[in-house]
Amino acid sequence: MTILQIALDVPLPRLFDYRLAGESQGNLVGRLVRVPFGRGVRFGVVVGEATTSDQPAEKLKAAELIDDLPALPADWLELCGFCARYYHYPLGQVVTFALPPLLRRGKKPRMLKDKAGAVPPAPTLPVAMPDQVIAIDAITAASGFQTFLLHGVTGSGKTEVYLRAIAAVLERGGQALMLVPEIALTPQLESRVSARFPSAHIVAAHSGVGDAARTRAFLAALEGRAAIVLGTRLSVFMPLPALQLIVVDEEHDASFKQQEGLRYSARDVAIFRAKQRAIPIVLGSATPSLETFHHASCGRYRKLDLPLRAVAAAMPTVATVDTRKEKLQDGLSAALLAAVGARLEKGEQSLLFLNRRGYAPVLACPACGWISHCRRCAANMVLHLADRRLRCHHCGLEVAIPHTCPDCGNLDLQPFGRGTQRLEVALTERFPTARILRIDRDSADSPKKWHALLAAIHAGEADMLVGTQMLAKGHDFPKLTLVGVVGADAALFAADFRAPERLFAQLMQVGGRSGRAHLPGAVLIQTEYPDHPLYRALINHDYSAFANEQLAERAVAGFPPFTFQALLRAEAPALPQALEFLATAVTSAEALGAPDIMLYDPVPMRMARLKNRERAQLLVESKSRPALQSFLADWMPRLYALKTPRELRWHLDVDPQEF
Ligand code: ADP
Ligand code: ZN
Ligand code: ZN
Repeated sequence: MTILQIALDVPLPRLFDYRLAGESQGNLVGRLVRVPFGRGVRFGVVVGEATTSDQPAEKLKAAELIDDLPALPADWLELCGFCARYYHYPLGQVVTFALPPLLRRGKKPRMLKDKAGAVPPAPTLPVAMPDQVIAIDAITAASGFQTFLLHGVTGSGKTEVYLRAIAAVLERGGQALMLVPEIALTPQLESRVSARFPSAHIVAAHSGVGDAARTRAFLAALEGRAAIVLGTRLSVFMPLPALQLIVVDEEHDASFKQQEGLRYSARDVAIFRAKQRAIPIVLGSATPSLETFHHASCGRYRKLDLPLRAVAAAMPTVATVDTRKEKLQDGLSAALLAAVGARLEKGEQSLLFLNRRGYAPVLACPACGWISHCRRCAANMVLHLADRRLRCHHCGLEVAIPHTCPDCGNLDLQPFGRGTQRLEVALTERFPTARILRIDRDSADSPKKWHALLAAIHAGEADMLVGTQMLAKGHDFPKLTLVGVVGADAALFAADFRAPERLFAQLMQVGGRSGRAHLPGAVLIQTEYPDHPLYRALINHDYSAFANEQLAERAVAGFPPFTFQALLRAEAPALPQALEFLATAVTSAEALGAPDIMLYDPVPMRMARLKNRERAQLLVESKSRPALQSFLADWMPRLYALKTPRELRWHLDVDPQEF
């Protein structure tokens, strides 16, 4: 009898054996099935066949094939298998996660008729610049697996390189996968790609796409009908039988790493996939992650540089404003206010970048010292004056603003610090005639509002923009000539060793908004540390200087990419429970006696309490990735076997990005 090994959405690192209902039908690996499980029914995927089972044959229940759905290809199952092994996550849960919503429930979407319209003419292309030619030739000439780092500032023509490399793939009848950060996947990018390939079947996949459409896109990719998949991190799991090229744009972007469930890095999975399929992969960025930059420096990746902007004549000038020397007005220096005023007079746009939404980060009572703590988290509640609420940005709890101090009854509660709403108010008072738009997750809380705001900016309906990092990515505002950076210093001294890397990328990106068309751009950074090497490197547009300095520091400190890390996190209603679990985990790790592995002490997380649960973590580190992986493979089954209290939850995060 053939026994089917089935991956089911069950949080256990194992497969489930079933027998086939009805006659054998040849190889069933990859087929979707419906099986009885417990008292219910589940859907799963056949990932293997065997002739024996640990279970007695008469106890095996019957699996039913779902007939009208295609089998998943072997390389797709192997991709899921890699993720399960590398991230130490149950294969059944990986498979379920990688499937589109309807297939998870064994359903097929209604197919839409192809709209047969007239194919618009292919656009005339710009003449590629010499550096672009070198990059395009290198990528299209690659045979087999090769990783390229395409390093070029915003506007240097990276997208143009991707599109030409994709064009070469389509000519050969291949499929291409292009991954972009969530926020960068705008209708503008979609239409740029479809305008370039008017007769190609392109599918877009991101969180805004509904269940049925996502499932149709998956099937179109699987059946080879889709030539290009353009999507966010989840698209790395699209089955693509004729895949010939992968592009990861803004490869450094944090949104490529999923922070829950299967904690995968879509960039890293994409690299595995390119290797598996023996095809080239292009990682593009103005500010590559230090991991990627390091690989390129060592020669493991081939670096392709686009040092010049394609359209704008020059890079924006970057300067610091030393805020130790003056009294700021509403957080703004005289130099920045003057620069903003000058743009207003000339009819140009300014952008003030402040990566903190809300009116003020905390409301406080000067009389007794009360401050607006969140009662569920170890965090403050942020004052939102626009709708008169106090809101926790971590757990979403919100309450009305108290009229008096809850502790002492004082009437005079004071906001401390500054968020985008407060900056907007200050600018409105100072420039009463200016049209000011605020862009953050409050003002753009739906894709519709976000796109309306982008359209308004493009239409020149704003003189000043106040925004968070939402505005930093992938948008081209022709009239924007000034970027003012307000309050970025905190990240220079943050405890997370990746904070400077992120700050540099953010500032470079937001600065890149300035002067993209034919108007010269300027960036003014308000800071109390004008001599800081990070700001120096920004002034000189010298990412490599910054990256090399950071890498030297990390080599000394023993941080990634010179070590490899995994974090075991635990959470429970009480901190001792979480710490106790981690201590047990340490004991079982020590019993394995892995000499190349460094285990740190379990500690509470920096923000220990979230949504009334206490969180702690244990860092595991090694100089060798294979050593770390083989240790984790030995350790995880022991952790799964531990008896833990019901209210305790734990997970492993391989290559963690946040601490
Ligand atoms: P990036 O992706 O690096 O930000 P893009 O590819 O979007 O850069 O190019 C920036 C702008 O320059 C776009 O408007 C693009 O059409 C234009 N562009 C790119 N390459 C060329 C070229 N070789 N000649 C003229 N314009 C170009
Ligand atoms: Zn008080
Ligand atoms: Zn909270």
